[in-house]
Amino acid sequence: MNISPPAKKSFVARVWEWLLPTPQEAPTGAEAMSVDWLKAIPYAGIHLACLGVIWVGWSWPAVIMAVFFYALRVFALTGFYHRYFSHRSFKVGRITQFVMGWIGCTAIQKSPLWWAAHHRHHHAHSDDEHDLHSPKQSGFWYAHMGWFLTPKCGPTNYRLIPDFAKFPELRWLDRFELVPPVLLIGLLYLTGFVFDYQWPQLACTGGQMVIWFFISTVFTYQVTYLVNTATHMYGTRRYVTKDDSRNSLIIALLTFGEGWHNNHHYYPNSTRQGFFWWEIDISYYVLCFMQMFGLVWEVRPVPKRLLHPKPKAAAAEMLPAPAAQ
Ligand SMILES: [Zn+2]
Ligand SMILES: [Zn+2]
Repeated sequence: MNISPPAKKSFVARVWEWLLPTPQEAPTGAEAMSVDWLKAIPYAGIHLACLGVIWVGWSWPAVIMAVFFYALRVFALTGFYHRYFSHRSFKVGRITQFVMGWIGCTAIQKSPLWWAAHHRHHHAHSDDEHDLHSPKQSGFWYAHMGWFLTPKCGPTNYRLIPDFAKFPELRWLDRFELVPPVLLIGLLYLTGFVFDYQWPQLACTGGQMVIWFFISTVFTYQVTYLVNTATHMYGTRRYVTKDDSRNSLIIALLTFGEGWHNNHHYYPNSTRQGFFWWEIDISYYVLCFMQMFGLVWEVRPVPKRLLHPKPKAAAAEMLPAPAAQ
């Protein structure tokens, strides 16, 4: 029998494969759903690092930097990871798409492909037994900060996000999701070092900048998680939906508009999540501002018919879940 040896892959082909991951299957079974405590170590480390403020103290440059990066990253997550990568509720050029994906990675909440694939799964199964972060199904703490530390939630399911997985630069970001935050932390350390050298009277140091970046990161973490938990538990329900989603002004203010979660689950196709003028939705305002400069386009408002909710018609407005192929 003539068995030909497997074709040798060229060096370039092997490098290419390493740079751009291929789809991975998530493990299944009950064990895959329990928290992997090894994965929790770096994550707990970021939380604990905030205690370093006791030693490094504060300065105005460090606090302003922390507030700036909170605002920038909350916007990158809500405006782009959520409303763009997960729901495609507006259009954007390829460079802006990558830049916003890169900025989103600095929030250390994984890549845009991972985040959006898991979020699409949430909309397909919100609050049912397959939902990965439902406080109704698995309790508050697991839904808040446990689910993403499980083996099941490790890989990115490219089948849920083929529309963006086709971009090699986004698959590169999926593999090297830690490059943007590591580079940023290095840059911030350097900035603090220069401040310390040039303007010692400001009492800003490299270590202080890094600790305040972690404080900003933990705030960004916690408000993002509140969208998964608090807005499925507390608040008002304007529309009848198949889940427990709710509207909350406090969460909307903290997350630049994501607190209008019942509106969003009812009609996820709209860029705008605060459906009425009094429902403050900062990410939507920023996206409208970006649209004025041609950075994004086809930003979708709320269809007028939804502004007179007829609860019985709610089911008809639900969009079909993204198809798993
Ligand atoms: Zn939800
Ligand atoms: Zn959504």
